[in-house]
Amino acid sequence: MSDHRIHNFSAGPGVLPETVLREAQEALWNLNGSGIGILECSHRSALFEAVIESARNRLRRLLKLSDDQEVLFLHGGARTQFFMLPQNLLRGGRATYLDTGTWAAGAIDEAERFGTIDVPFSSRETGYDHVPAPGSLPAAPDGTLYLHYTSNNTVAGTEFHHVPDVGVPLVCDMSSNILSRPVEGSRYHFIYAGAQKNMGPAGVTLAILKREWLERFDTDLPAMLRYGLHVKKQSMYNTPPTFPIFVVERVTAWLEANGGIEAMEARNIAQANRIYAAIDASDLFRGKTQVESRSRMNITFTTGDAALDLSFAKSASQHGLSGLKGHSSVGGLRASVYNAQTDEAVDALVAFLKEFEANHG
Ligand code: PMP
Repeated sequence: MSDHRIHNFSAGPGVLPETVLREAQEALWNLNGSGIGILECSHRSALFEAVIESARNRLRRLLKLSDDQEVLFLHGGARTQFFMLPQNLLRGGRATYLDTGTWAAGAIDEAERFGTIDVPFSSRETGYDHVPAPGSLPAAPDGTLYLHYTSNNTVAGTEFHHVPDVGVPLVCDMSSNILSRPVEGSRYHFIYAGAQKNMGPAGVTLAILKREWLERFDTDLPAMLRYGLHVKKQSMYNTPPTFPIFVVERVTAWLEANGGIEAMEARNIAQANRIYAAIDASDLFRGKTQVESRSRMNITFTTGDAALDLSFAKSASQHGLSGLKGHSSVGGLRASVYNAQTDEAVDALVAFLKEFEANHG
């Protein structure tokens, strides 16, 4: 069996830090010297309590949360949060959503089951190639409970480089750029994110909520859908996804030991800039999104020829660069450069873009 690893540009589950993978390997066998592996360890043990508590505290620090916010580790992926929050909170009321991509649209579809959804911005007509400019949104109508936005649009490859404001509490799907840049987490009433891009493996979803909302939530829902119960039981109402939580704890430890969010952001900017510069300098490839909205996490580009795009992705894969095919709904190409992406992988991609152009331009 080969121990050789290739460069992974997958949009998620995505690349994780090598040191964390080694720690996870060790923990499968023996968690922190206990003689028990993480997969075999009771979620009620002191051993696991220490893991989840540490993950919570690290996330609190990294996301600059305040004492009035609760950190939950839930099941069901970000898609469950698309309906769980409106189901708990909306109850026939009104919310504003920004339609900036496939996942934002998915969140809107689910929210519409539970109330009136205003959508003052959509870039659907132009292939979701941009997010709203700072200061361009109208104030939300009276009675609006929250503004929902997707901070990074994984499929289209756009990202908010500011916090949108329509004068109401903020709700954000941070699935694909959480922990990649500084955020004032305490400004948000609700944050959610699937772990499988910047935080860890699939299987755990982070949900962060302001405690003041707890009293507004519907208490007449099935138990697993009640945030209040998850808060009361500190994510232990049922068996939490222990292994993914363990990995999130290790990834956040890795972040804190390597300069924190600021250092990560600097690296993310440098890596994204290098790839965009290579695309912009090329006569064969072009970026798919408007420059001011470009994502640092998911870089979408194309040759303009679907067959040639496919041939690029295939050929890249043969050269040890995997996961460059765009999302199946939009085609084209996409390079995901999450926090753990290596400079070597970026070097290899930039070189391969040039090589492919020389052979096909
Ligand atoms: N939101 C965003 C921004 C995403 O990128 C994804 C998954 N790629 C989802 C939601 C859906 O997440 P999950 O698969 O965890 O339900």
